[in-house]
Amino acid sequence: MQTSSAGRKFIGAHFQPCNIYGRLYLNKEGTAYVGNCPKCGQSHRVKAGPKGADVKMVQIFCFYGGAPGRY
Ligand SMILES: [Zn+2]
Repeated sequence: MQTSSAGRKFIGAHFQPCNIYGRLYLNKEGTAYVGNCPKCGQSHRVKAGPKGADVKMVQIFCFYGGAPGRY
């Protein structure tokens, strides 16, 4: 498996209610943007599509103590 971080696509994410900005990186399959909230560590997954790739900023909602991967 190759792990090249160069040129990896990402989108900006605004995590709420943590109220902090971070990034979600495109997975190797190119099907979703994944990442963790920098504040609470909640893992997130946002589906990426032909149009989804055009999104530059998404709103993400953290759920404290909730089940990860709710998206
Ligand atoms: Zn959070």
